[in-house]
Amino acid sequence: MRIGVIIPAAGFGQRFGHELPKQYHLLDQAPIIVHTLRTVLGIDSVVSVVVAISPSDTMFAEICSTHHITDPRLHATVGGSERQHSIMNALNHPSIADVDVILVHDAVRPLASDGLFTRVALTAFEKGACVPVISVDDTIKRVEGDQVVGTVPRADLRRVQTPQGFTPEVLRTAYEQAVANDVLGTDDASLVEGSGVLVYTVDGEPWNTKITTPFDLAVASSMLSRNS
Ligand code: C5P
Repeated sequence: MRIGVIIPAAGFGQRFGHELPKQYHLLDQAPIIVHTLRTVLGIDSVVSVVVAISPSDTMFAEICSTHHITDPRLHATVGGSERQHSIMNALNHPSIADVDVILVHDAVRPLASDGLFTRVALTAFEKGACVPVISVDDTIKRVEGDQVVGTVPRADLRRVQTPQGFTPEVLRTAYEQAVANDVLGTDDASLVEGSGVLVYTVDGEPWNTKITTPFDLAVASSMLSRNS
């Protein structure tokens, strides 16, 4: 199985409250994205990694060089104004024109294991589309203003992570339809669902946190130090 990986990394990370894009903040002495790239490039069946970076990004090449990420499978492309546009640009990169499975993985999820990438890729190859999920342990309420207006049954709710995996045809068709219908989704699977294709699940990883705030970074850092 030939795997292509798209890494959207063109966000500004406004919720992080800092000028530096969040994927460049240090986690255990290396920028967050370096951890992500090391894991992905450590997988033998990955034949291409396309990273979408902001047109104003002047740091990516230098960071890769400083941290010895010089793999010929690694490519950069220009990101767009929304995550979805960044992925659309990456989908057009020639290095992933001829793969069996495409995995899309947020740059800011540095703790996903190589086993998770492989698990998602295998199920996506077999079934067409796959996402890693985690159960919802908290009770979920619907609120209006400061009032609770309902409780949502949680048994069939899941939190969805990346990497999300798709066969190229499934992902490309979903993106083409999203462009045609002017739809913006919060993840790739929602576009695939919208195109009428069934999305399957595998177990996600509780430590595969998306670093959105400085608190998330502190949590990720503490998880790394416990494991080392
Ligand atoms: O903003 P959010 O946390 O949802 O971003 C998830 C991932 O998508 C990040 O890795 C971010 O860099 C990327 N992204 C992107 N292009 C955008 C916005 C976000 O590649 N326009």
